[in-house]
Amino acid sequence: INILAIESSCDETSASVISDGKILNNIVATQSVHEKYGGVVPELASRAHQQHLVPVIQEAIKTSGLDKKELSAVAFTRGPGLMGSLLVGVSFAKAFAYSLGIPMIEVNHMEAHILAHFIDHPAPLFPFICLTVSGGHTQLVLVKSHLEMEVIGETLDDAVGEAFDKTAKLMGLPYPGGPMIDKFALNGDPKAYSFPLSDMPDLNYSFSGIKTAVLYFLRDRLKENATFIDDNKNDICASVQYTLIKMLMQKLKKAAKIHRINEIAIAGGVSANLGLRAELEKLSSELGWKVYIPSFEYCTDNAAMIAMAAHFKFLNQEFCGLDISPLAKMKIGK
Ligand code: ATP
Ligand code: MG
Ligand code: FE
Repeated sequence: INILAIESSCDETSASVISDGKILNNIVATQSVHEKYGGVVPELASRAHQQHLVPVIQEAIKTSGLDKKELSAVAFTRGPGLMGSLLVGVSFAKAFAYSLGIPMIEVNHMEAHILAHFIDHPAPLFPFICLTVSGGHTQLVLVKSHLEMEVIGETLDDAVGEAFDKTAKLMGLPYPGGPMIDKFALNGDPKAYSFPLSDMPDLNYSFSGIKTAVLYFLRDRLKENATFIDDNKNDICASVQYTLIKMLMQKLKKAAKIHRINEIAIAGGVSANLGLRAELEKLSSELGWKVYIPSFEYCTDNAAMIAMAAHFKFLNQEFCGLDISPLAKMKIGK
């Protein structure tokens, strides 16, 4: 089984070829046009996908060593994501599948973030709990099999990635700010400043409060000292990151306890965060968790995770027709 997979949900154009469950490559073109706007501009993202998609796919096919006639299926991200971005990938997949006479496989981007855990070994054992933390989502997912997942908790407002990015923006750091906060936090004191922890019911999260708290905190301190941010960059980053990780861990611990599961995974862009990774390693020895952390390459958006998800769907003969359309909002487990 050889599958070409395409990812175009946000601002990464990516293609990957998987052969009998083994990832052969993972070509990613990150769009830099958004940097000067401090966030992803949807219209520019679609155009950049149009420009990058064909070269990225050509590169993936070339470095796979396969001929396109040897492909068994074409997979693509159906959602969730930016409609204009998704359309570029879906439309290409349709034309490509039609011209080669091969089937298409639709993939849910959030399920794929989780299934990235099956690219490298050891993979988590079912059932496991995955904390998916990215730019648009923060979810606790009970993963029962490769194809069966259930959201058991999620953010009721902002995603944790957004909280990282917005904090960075308030501090005048360039986009995307998550990795910058991570970097400065390494040399800061996590207890230098304290920010309120949100307390949502059940296994749900809220990250909009901290954004406002950081806004007022910086505004007040800047009144007294105009160079407050520059003088205390490391401590501010460490303290905000500490608070965000603490909130993430509170509900993760609760979920593990309720479901009596100690196979714990993290996925999505924010799982690249060094502070989060370290905290999980700590909890793993404290609570007897078996913790799974994806390699950096598979944390942020990439087509290898789409290819991995498509492989499992192929084994289950789950294909879609040429009348398929993308979904900006797409739920897990539907
Ligand atoms: P979604 O997957 O929800 O549709 P997305 O695809 O935009 O959203 P990803 O690419 O999975 O999100 O992740 C991007 C997010 O990860 C951004 O918010 C970015 O700041 C954050 N991020 C990346 N690296 C780090 C890091 N080291 N520390 C904190 N945040 C990080
Ligand atoms: Mg991105
Ligand atoms: Fe993503």
